[in-house]
Amino acid sequence: MKIQSKITLLFLALSTGILLLLNAFILYFEYEFNYMDFFKRLEARVNLTAQIRLFPGEKSRAYQEVRNKYLEKLDAEKEQLIKADALGKFKNEGLPAGFFQQIINQGQAIFKDDNQFFAGKTITLSGTDRYIVVVSALNPYGLREIQELQKILFFGFLGSLIIVFFVGKVFSYYTFIPIRKLTHEVNTITSDNLHTRLEEPKGKDEVAELSHTFNNMLNRLETAFETQNNFVSNASHELRTPLTIINSEVEIALNKVDLTEMQRATLNTIYAETNKLVQIINSLLLLAQSGYDGKRQNWQKTRIDELIWLSVEAAKKIYPQSNIEVDFAALPENEEMLNIFGNSNLLCLAITNIISNGCKYSQNRLIAVKLSVQNNKIIISVTDQGIGIPPTELQHIFEPFFRASNTHDYEGHGVGLPLTLNIIRLHKGTIGIRSEVNQGTVIQIFLPAASVA
Ligand code: ADP
Repeated sequence: MKIQSKITLLFLALSTGILLLLNAFILYFEYEFNYMDFFKRLEARVNLTAQIRLFPGEKSRAYQEVRNKYLEKLDAEKEQLIKADALGKFKNEGLPAGFFQQIINQGQAIFKDDNQFFAGKTITLSGTDRYIVVVSALNPYGLREIQELQKILFFGFLGSLIIVFFVGKVFSYYTFIPIRKLTHEVNTITSDNLHTRLEEPKGKDEVAELSHTFNNMLNRLETAFETQNNFVSNASHELRTPLTIINSEVEIALNKVDLTEMQRATLNTIYAETNKLVQIINSLLLLAQSGYDGKRQNWQKTRIDELIWLSVEAAKKIYPQSNIEVDFAALPENEEMLNIFGNSNLLCLAITNIISNGCKYSQNRLIAVKLSVQNNKIIISVTDQGIGIPPTELQHIFEPFFRASNTHDYEGHGVGLPLTLNIIRLHKGTIGIRSEVNQGTVIQIFLPAASVA
């Protein structure tokens, strides 16, 4: 789950907890206040009833008058007067048992049964002349008030949650804008534009710190790339010179007439092997140059079909016995789509590498080279019927110097495909590969047409 969503949910969960707690407090105090208030009213009526009924006289009549005039009649209001028997004992006349017992034990009690409220107390006039006065009534207004409050709190709670959810979403969305921007910027940095740096926001917040850290890392990466690249280029240049000298010396020696058979054979081997070494070093030099090239030299618009013809010719020179069939049947009507923007020498080298591999690993069986354009992408497919690549080794064939286990009988150095991949990547393209051992291999190069590159 994205941190943005997590923050929204956390925000919601926290708010739910706080709102629930607040609602519980409000309800609790409303219950307390509402019930206590009603009990107080009942208790006042108990005292009045006792005055009126147990102390008849002038005063009680005045009380009765005040009560009739000013005291509102409660819903289902009922008075009860229970007189103690000769032994001073009371008999329960239909009151809830617990409430009745509490009045006897403590002298007074309040009680609530559903929505019926009771208040009562004992009054002793003298000796065994004792009474229990009870007033009970319903409290419909209080109940309605609490129900209304419950409703308000419930809908208020739901409404608040919806608001909190959307506010949380908007809040987390805006909070993460700088991070998304940073991710986008980092994603645009590849080996082609390692010199690019992230924009560092003003201030000293975490995002500014992260951008600064990324930029420091890019500095180190760029230095490492350049060092490695310079090393391979310099080493290749340095090695080429002595090898060329060895080659020329061997050539001069081979031209001598007084050589024995064995000497000639040895010199021939030295000549062939130094030639191979020169080839490897040349490939390494190209690999280094194609792998990281911020400057992009000699880039121009080129027709891909022409490059394919040149590559086929080059492959035929290396493998004269090869059998290559070129299929341009699926070419688009708009010839503009065949234009590609790039370095034609490098592109030609990449396509030649793939076609020559097809020739080499299929002992000159038919190679099909097909060109097509789909969704603004130029697709070059090279299909051979050769030895194929074992499935477990397929993932390694673009690693420098890797050779599959079934290539013992074939010459090679394992630098052709890494070089090809670097060249294609430099042109913002990709390579796809499908292969089956002893059935053949299909390698596809996808390149953006010049109109979209
Ligand atoms: P190599 O000089 O060994 O051909 P590459 O870099 O061109 O080096 O290829 C790397 C490896 O990929 C090869 O050694 C081979 O195992 C495998 N490979 C490439 N192309 C093919 C193909 N058309 N058929 C079978 N195997 C191939």
